Amino acid sequence: MSFANLLGNERNKRILQRLLGGGRISATLIFAGPDGVGKRQFALAMAKAANCQKAPAGSLAVDSCDECAVCHRIDAGTYGDVTTIQPDGQYIKIAQTRALADEVYYHPREGRQRFFLIDEADRLREEAANSLLKTLEEPPPTSTIILITSRPNSLLQTIRSRAQRLTFTPLSVTEMEKYLTVNYPRPAPDTKLLARVTEGRIGQATAFDLSAYRQERQALIKLLELLVTGESRFRLLKAAEHIGKKEREEFEKELRLLMSLLRDLLLLAAGANPESIINIDVVERLEPLAAQIGLRRLMIWSGKFDEVRKRLRVNINRQIAMEATLLNLAEEAG
Ligand SMILES: [Zn+2]
Repeated sequence: MSFANLLGNERNKRILQRLLGGGRISATLIFAGPDGVGKRQFALAMAKAANCQKAPAGSLAVDSCDECAVCHRIDAGTYGDVTTIQPDGQYIKIAQTRALADEVYYHPREGRQRFFLIDEADRLREEAANSLLKTLEEPPPTSTIILITSRPNSLLQTIRSRAQRLTFTPLSVTEMEKYLTVNYPRPAPDTKLLARVTEGRIGQATAFDLSAYRQERQALIKLLELLVTGESRFRLLKAAEHIGKKEREEFEKELRLLMSLLRDLLLLAAGANPESIINIDVVERLEPLAAQIGLRRLMIWSGKFDEVRKRLRVNINRQIAMEATLLNLAEEAG
């Protein structure tokens, strides 16, 4: 995508286009921000603008055409002057950074400007980072290095001090709805839900499985409906088993979904505007449930499930934790 077609993070767009316009893009940049907000897309847009075949002679374009062979190849990841480095296993290894440090000093192979994108740059360990410091400090005029990270605070201070940092933020719900409506048309309730559930992260939205989400959510709403009656210990144990048996990652996902439902219920019970909830497509079902559980209990429940979430760090038995929590809440209800 060209800058013109990228949505959001307008300030970063202006900064990068100003760098391109001034022809001074020998730099080390940090693109920081949550996953899926477009950091990589911005890096590619910059590489395309700098190498686009339709650039005016003697200067760099401030945006790409998105149509020429170079733009296409950069998008496809087959252009010789755009290199991406990713962690090899858990970390970016010193062999990778040494190779990069050599490579940076070569002239462009085919275009005007070389780009080196370091994905998950927070996974650079000290010795690997040290081998790069000189390079990051002052890359040659024809090389631009972009460190991409969702955890900028985990970047080593020695790296941070050598680079210019740009922070990327998610889109607002309204911006996201607009973007999805234009680029991925679907029924309006789906668009509204997707914009909210992905919290403005475009990267997440394109791969999000709405029907799987709705299915899991349906089961959790049923669980909350069961819990509020305080009856059927057996069915609660079954539910605890079903959730508790999931692999850790899936279990965490389930808990996050449960917490987001509880947050919605809290908002509704507190009389907030229904437009402010995430699960806006099932508001008719959540409203009576919120009234039935009531504000006080919703706060207690949120607290209890949040405790389970926190205790996951110490590797608890997930099934037992769910059983204990659900039975405990049901007893209070009954
Ligand atoms: Zn082009």
